[in-house]
Amino acid sequence: MAKRDYYDVLGVNKNASPDELKSAYRKLAVKYHPDKNPGDKVAEDKFKEASEAYGILSDKSKKENYDNFGHAAFENGGGGKGGFGGFGGFSGADFSDIFEDFFGDFGGSGNRSSRRNENNRGSDLRYDITITLEEAYLGKKQNIQFSTSERCNTCKGNGSRPGSSPDRCSYCGGNGRVRSNQGFFTVQQTCPQCAGSGEEINDPCSDCKGKGNRQASKKVSVSIPKGVDDGTRIRLAGKGEAGTRGGATGDLYLFVNVKSHDLFKRSDVNLFFEFPISIADAALGTTIEIPTIDGKKAKIKIPEGTQDGKQFRLKGKGMPFMRKGDFGDLYIQVKTEVPVSLNKEQKSLLEKFREIENEKSNPSIRKFFQKAKSFWNN
Ligand SMILES: [Zn+2]
Ligand SMILES: [Zn+2]
Repeated sequence: MAKRDYYDVLGVNKNASPDELKSAYRKLAVKYHPDKNPGDKVAEDKFKEASEAYGILSDKSKKENYDNFGHAAFENGGGGKGGFGGFGGFSGADFSDIFEDFFGDFGGSGNRSSRRNENNRGSDLRYDITITLEEAYLGKKQNIQFSTSERCNTCKGNGSRPGSSPDRCSYCGGNGRVRSNQGFFTVQQTCPQCAGSGEEINDPCSDCKGKGNRQASKKVSVSIPKGVDDGTRIRLAGKGEAGTRGGATGDLYLFVNVKSHDLFKRSDVNLFFEFPISIADAALGTTIEIPTIDGKKAKIKIPEGTQDGKQFRLKGKGMPFMRKGDFGDLYIQVKTEVPVSLNKEQKSLLEKFREIENEKSNPSIRKFFQKAKSFWNN
């Protein structure tokens, strides 16, 4: 029996677009699928014929060969079982293998869900969150809300109108993957028709149009750990975009920005700030009260004669280590402030002080002039 023209088989003209080819094949495959026509040899033959035609015409280079040379393009070494010569083009190809794989568990009960493809996995999402340093110190629970695709509740994600269920994909037989020979290699790829789901929706859910998911506003409660630093990324597994038709849900990545603080500067787990004191306090000594990140106060004794730039460390008053009970330290640096806008009384007191100042009370000044003097004398 002469082979029918592939375009005739699919009932399309030579200029049919890939989409037209696909939908023509789909119609035939659904109509003649062996699952729907058990024991019907004619239907099975029609199904194979349509699959073969689509197998050639959906492949750009094979289609080109077919357009130029007709069936002769594939007769060399072809002629395998079931008229699948078209898939080889070289001798010795094991067509039974392709045949089996192509139709998957033909009429059997294969495990479809285990072969679902990664392609169905939902996307990972990024959510930027900005918190204060105090919140980073305490840790924070927050509800965030964003728009993403979620599983359709009407069809429970399978895309079929409630009461109906998806059919096995007629192209891959429910495998989600198809194999084809390319040169001497057998290449497995995701089924182009069902994108790996192994299913075909013939009676789509009206709420999601068969996609199995729909756009929705999603609320997620996130807990930001104590000690989180600016730029920390937190992964929330399975909180991203819903997969299509039973595919896994993507992840949600929380990108934490910690706002810079008016008072405290942060370096890793340590905090730092400059504390201005008057020259009188620096010279005479005093006790000062400083703020700490927990919102409380701490007392520091400034001893007599504290110089500008002197650092004090308060152990354990820094930021918490993430996932550890420890804390960093708080460093404060003294900055002496030279008084300005003096009134008459202050001025006269300082003038009096200058008169009675001696070398012992200003050792740095004395040292400098000793060096300067020896420089001038040389
Ligand atoms: Zn639905
Ligand atoms: Zn498929």
